[in-house]
Amino acid sequence: MDHLIEVKNLKKYFQTPRGELHAVDNVTLDIERGKTIGIVGESGCGKSTLGKTLMRLHDATAGQILYNDVDIAAMPMKEFKKNYRSNIQMIFQDPYASLDPRMSVLQLVEEPIKVNNKKMSKADVTAKAKEMMELVGLATRLESSYPHELDGGRRQRIGIARALSLDPDFIVCDEPVSALDVSIQAQILNLLQDLQQERGLTYMFITHDMSVVKHISDDIAVMYLGQVIEKCPAHEIFTNTIHPYSQALLSAIPIPNVHVKKERMVLKGELTSPINPKKCCRFAERCPYATDQCRAEEPVLRELKPNHMAACHYAEQFVK
Ligand code: SF4
Repeated sequence: MDHLIEVKNLKKYFQTPRGELHAVDNVTLDIERGKTIGIVGESGCGKSTLGKTLMRLHDATAGQILYNDVDIAAMPMKEFKKNYRSNIQMIFQDPYASLDPRMSVLQLVEEPIKVNNKKMSKADVTAKAKEMMELVGLATRLESSYPHELDGGRRQRIGIARALSLDPDFIVCDEPVSALDVSIQAQILNLLQDLQQERGLTYMFITHDMSVVKHISDDIAVMYLGQVIEKCPAHEIFTNTIHPYSQALLSAIPIPNVHVKKERMVLKGELTSPINPKKCCRFAERCPYATDQCRAEEPVLRELKPNHMAACHYAEQFVK
């Protein structure tokens, strides 16, 4: 397989007054060139921290991030910014908060081009920005509008134009549609898919919404308290869910049919603290199948079917 990104044993810990918070703990992932990996899990599971660590917005505590076989995690920041920053871009969750309200649409799209191409003439910067606006479906008449005058979908199109303006090949999409109305969500997801096909982009798509991830991902990694607990092709997670936590996540997807009843797996018990976590299954406090072994031994992520991995001592029992 042709992997653009290979993440190996990546850790991101934060020091807190109560101890070391293991936000990302020993994550290993491969991301195929031109494909989308969906990262799912509830709030606080470390998925956004993982995305920001890949972007070098956080420094990794340990581990490797191989981009085209080069470890960008250990590289001096100056070298990363000079040679790799434009290749790896991010689309943020809240387009309004990530845009300067005093800048017009054209200025906002011009800004990253100017900053990263110091020798480019003003005319060329403007021409490139206009090309990006057209690419993401922002009409020319909006050039002098300000973010507060636009709806959420158009604001997110500005965010996408800014990310694309540096011709990246890898984009971390951090909950890019969760602040948008459902009708606009579909437009933005379709735009991201069209751009991927046209430009061969590789995406990491972070979301807590399983229905959204189903629409866009080739592969899915489920995270729980800083760890990847299941990883497989996207269709497999919906047809052959192995890990009990993934089963609970999927059981929470609503079915738009009042005549179909779906049994929801309600999780009880306290969330384990990610600060100085014990060596055990981090889901044990909430798992209906937990045993003494689960509370004493950390399960490893292992392959149970071709390309389907899960971290559970009893995973074989859940394989169909
Ligand atoms: Fe549940 Fe045990 Fe599997 Fe953890 S290892 S998911 S506690 S059965």
